[in-house]
Amino acid sequence: MLELRLDHLCDLTVERAVNMIAAARSLSLPIIATCRDSNEGGVNDYPADLRLAVLLESIVAGVDFVDCEFDNFAGETKEQIKKVLRVNPGCRLILSAHNFKGTFPDINQLYDNIHSSCPDAIPKLVYTAKHINDCFPAIDLLRNRRSDAIVLCMGNAGMMMRLLSGKFGGFLSFASLDPENATAPGQITIDDMIGLYRWRSINSDTLVYGVIGSPVGHSISPAVFNACFDKDGINAVYLPLLVDGQSEQFDEFLHNIISRHRQGDTDFGGFSVTIPHKANALEYAERKGQMVEPLAINIGAANTIRIGLNGSISLYNTDYAGAIDALADAIGVSRHGLHSLTVAVIGAGGAGRAIVAGLVDVGAKVTIYNRTLQKAIALADEFGCKYAPAESIDSLTAQVIVNCTSIGMYPNTDASPVPAKCLKPAMTVFDTVYNPLQTMLLTQAKAAGANVVSGDEMFVRQAMAQYKIFTGQTANENIMRKTVLAKLGK
Ligand code: NAP
Repeated sequence: MLELRLDHLCDLTVERAVNMIAAARSLSLPIIATCRDSNEGGVNDYPADLRLAVLLESIVAGVDFVDCEFDNFAGETKEQIKKVLRVNPGCRLILSAHNFKGTFPDINQLYDNIHSSCPDAIPKLVYTAKHINDCFPAIDLLRNRRSDAIVLCMGNAGMMMRLLSGKFGGFLSFASLDPENATAPGQITIDDMIGLYRWRSINSDTLVYGVIGSPVGHSISPAVFNACFDKDGINAVYLPLLVDGQSEQFDEFLHNIISRHRQGDTDFGGFSVTIPHKANALEYAERKGQMVEPLAINIGAANTIRIGLNGSISLYNTDYAGAIDALADAIGVSRHGLHSLTVAVIGAGGAGRAIVAGLVDVGAKVTIYNRTLQKAIALADEFGCKYAPAESIDSLTAQVIVNCTSIGMYPNTDASPVPAKCLKPAMTVFDTVYNPLQTMLLTQAKAAGANVVSGDEMFVRQAMAQYKIFTGQTANENIMRKTVLAKLGK
């Protein structure tokens, strides 16, 4: 379908609108004619009588749908639109309501009001989600609708509704032709909607997965998982799920998902979890007495949630396995072949924790270096390994170096956590940073003749492990690697 936002035309006249409709009809797409009131997001402040005249002539000109604001659908406007629609039965009315500031006070009542005012019309209710948790009333309304309905959420936090509207029975969703020409906040481009998110294959049975975090806009996981679902013919979609806030908002999000799941709606299959919710995920599962993989408990963080049939959840950490396997493969040994190697881990954040736990688990001799010494000491105490202040990196002599800091990550690509003079041919140097893939650390390590491992190796392995947990199937590694490298611009 094509929506013509006639309020975007400069110097709007009925004639200009009708000419545009005639041109658009040559595309043989169903057409929605909209001439939005500036009170509800219209870009030009055209008078009500001109907007009404444009809508009436649009119907006569043969559009398939005409959109009128519900607030304006009263008195003479209502009578005239109904009259013209009666003699042009091929056109359907969309009665719309928008709230750019937040949620509607009572979205169900508003739906009822629109539906009873004109039962043949398609109610369209669009509001701004300030948080992803604001999307759930929209999902519930779509599920309980008594007729065709359009229910969408605006803003980055509302993206889930734009993508899942078809799954929940929404009559349509909107996409923009390109990022610069979005007609509402948070609109996704049509290329991403169809290519990246496979809009055309989403239906009521589609199982939803996604990455929970904040921010998530940069995540390459949607491209990677959706490409694999497509290849394997799995009816599933993977979305970025922006969950702002801390544990309270995270808990509410999971509760929203799981409580609906228990009512019999098996909509969501599982999640990847990223910053800042990896520890929140673990705490949630432990509080609810749900299954957590022992190593995730040791690490104190989970990056994978699987939702079971009855709404039970199980948690895993695939970061550690991804990192340890990447390292072992690069050295040409099994996991246990890492036993007794001396490893300098730089960084004591989430990735550092997972990698230290994994290395200690296989018996490597780990020394942790970190800018904030106290965090290195705490981590070393917890896992029974050594620590050293960041300044002593200058004299490190390990067989393996693992960078678990964001030093060298875009845009600070000239930085390296280790001075070039410390890098030796006999070393294996693993950088978990994957943006860029070829970091300064790896460039200098390669120049020194060292064996190098880039961050995509960890990413691919942890994603493969997640895919297996989510679907029970082994992901197509070629597709996964190809997509990762394409997204990372290699
Ligand atoms: P995090 O929990 O925020 O930890 C960040 C770590 O980096 C901390 O140790 C911090 O030191 C250190 N750091 C940050 N900026 C620094 C600076 N300017 N100078 C010195 N140290 C600095 O983040 P994370 O989740 O562990 O992620 C760390 C890196 O791992 C990121 O680059 C991420 O892309 C990468 N990662 C890769 C994968 C993969 O699949 N390849 C998976 C997960 C993470 P302080 O303690 O002193 O603040």
